[in-house]
Amino acid sequence: MDLRALDAPPSNAERAAIDALLGPPPAVDVPVPLSEVKQRRTLLLPSLIALQSQVGWVSPGGLGYACRRLGVPPAEGFGVASFYALLSLEERPRAFAHVCDDIACHAAGAEKLCAQMTERHGPPAHSRGHALSPTLSPAGEREKWARSPCLGLCEQAPAALVTVAGPTPREQSFGAATVEKIDAALKGDSVAAVMPRLESTGPRKLLARAGTVNPSSLDDYRAHGGYEALRRALELGPEGVVREVNDAKLVGRGGAAFPTGRKWEAVARAPVRPHYVVCNADESEPGTFKDRVLLEHDPFGIVEAMTIAGYATGSERGYLYLRGEYPLAHARLAHAISAARARGLLGPNVMGKGFTFELELRSGAGAYICGEETALFSSLEGLRGEPRNKPPFPVQSGLFGKPTAVNNVETLAAVLDIVRDGAAAYTSVGTPGSPGTKLFCLSGRVAKPGVYEVPFGTKLDELLALAGGVPGGKKLKAVLLGGAAGVFIGPEQLGVRLSFEHTKEAGLTLGSGVVMVVDETQSLLPLLRRIAAFFRDESCGQCVPCRVGTVRQEELVARLLAKKPMGSVGDELALLKELGQAMRDASICGLGQTASSAIESGFALPAFPGAPAEERME
Ligand code: SF4
Repeated sequence: MDLRALDAPPSNAERAAIDALLGPPPAVDVPVPLSEVKQRRTLLLPSLIALQSQVGWVSPGGLGYACRRLGVPPAEGFGVASFYALLSLEERPRAFAHVCDDIACHAAGAEKLCAQMTERHGPPAHSRGHALSPTLSPAGEREKWARSPCLGLCEQAPAALVTVAGPTPREQSFGAATVEKIDAALKGDSVAAVMPRLESTGPRKLLARAGTVNPSSLDDYRAHGGYEALRRALELGPEGVVREVNDAKLVGRGGAAFPTGRKWEAVARAPVRPHYVVCNADESEPGTFKDRVLLEHDPFGIVEAMTIAGYATGSERGYLYLRGEYPLAHARLAHAISAARARGLLGPNVMGKGFTFELELRSGAGAYICGEETALFSSLEGLRGEPRNKPPFPVQSGLFGKPTAVNNVETLAAVLDIVRDGAAAYTSVGTPGSPGTKLFCLSGRVAKPGVYEVPFGTKLDELLALAGGVPGGKKLKAVLLGGAAGVFIGPEQLGVRLSFEHTKEAGLTLGSGVVMVVDETQSLLPLLRRIAAFFRDESCGQCVPCRVGTVRQEELVARLLAKKPMGSVGDELALLKELGQAMRDASICGLGQTASSAIESGFALPAFPGAPAEERME
């Protein structure tokens, strides 16, 4: 895009999209006062999403108008727009499909689906819509679809997301995707959503309401115990809530496992004001879909839990940052927030107790790195979603430089039980080091993929048995535990207990709760290459070891897949190890630090002890 073209006028539709979000423009075209620029800039990403939803892409005229209204320099606006995979800076048809080809969908036939899409609709567009020169199909048409990283529908793989831009934009994501279903969605028809499989080994805690309560009814939510936890929190007082959460030994479920009570306590005690709470609902780890299930099927639960977090930390405002690929969750959360506000459960006088808490729903636009907490702040502030150095930690200087408590969706869901029933009840299940229950995302070659709630300490083989094991009498080859940033383990490690302390002892990680099964008929190398390509695409590029290392890593795996190693296979594996170590040592955030872990563990699988490395990979 030529930045001089930002002087181009917006179309009426683009102007209307921006004005609907920002309000009518001033009568006289005056520059935005400097004192307001920072505050307005937080609406840059929502403005870009509004443009894309209205006309299907972010045109020079639309981007220029948004930048003028917000007082953002056009070059910076372009930098932000080009950061997100769901935004296109090239003209696209109004109806556009994103077809997931990530690891779970790959195992479920995504390549065949992509081949069928190519046959019917021509080649895919660049997955990131900011190539320097737009590509056209042989017939001169613009591409109608793109390959996509994980869409969070792994239990229903293969998955697709279809967006239809216009005055009433439409977005649908669905599993069991076929060319026919995608075509129907491109025409604007509805594709029926499927209720995910939800299983547990005992009484459901985190999944208590999912699938039972009408997610659009506040009355139904209350009839099933909704808002009892907030009522109890208001009786306990902020310090009492923090005490219960500390006593319950709740730690974050997003992967980092930091103690939630300590985080809340640090924010509550911070002298700087205001404080913020942020729900990190940017669930983008390939193979992870548990947060989607909670958000879609228990949206009031997350709104209530965030209100409790706001009360405990002395925050009057919260942001729920939801990944852009979850349109159903977005609709249900938006409804839940407005219903709660209408009933006095959000706003200036929550439950009539004089406590103020406002909650704002924000969308991401396709960037895995925005799940990193400081990158998420950058995204909310209208900057490129790039991580920041820590310290300072978010509890000292987070969103807008203020003390901020960031919690994952599942962590917040656990808070409801802890506050309502007390820490003692919560710690009566699980292990001493990991009390409570945990959600696992079972996908790949298991008979019954879905979300499973089991007490911490359950053995992995018990969980796999609950999910029906490997279908068709096939043997299990490996399990990816914890997601793309996790590790592959072989059948000999299936006895591991799923708790923070047991997995740590075994050199493994629970990560985001991914349990993806690979059977004996699958070759690991294509999966490893897809993981390597994922990290190459998702690196924000700020630090050299990660920016270059993820590219070199993907090239290396591609060479091995093509059976064209540079030197011997052993040389390549030694180089892979070196690359991994450099990324672990010198990357500033978790993406670079974990980008090689699944890949290195895949190559180390002792599936065929003593066999040459080439064979071990097959
Ligand atoms: Fe960006 Fe990678 Fe550095 Fe993280 S490690 S800040 S993703 S370049």
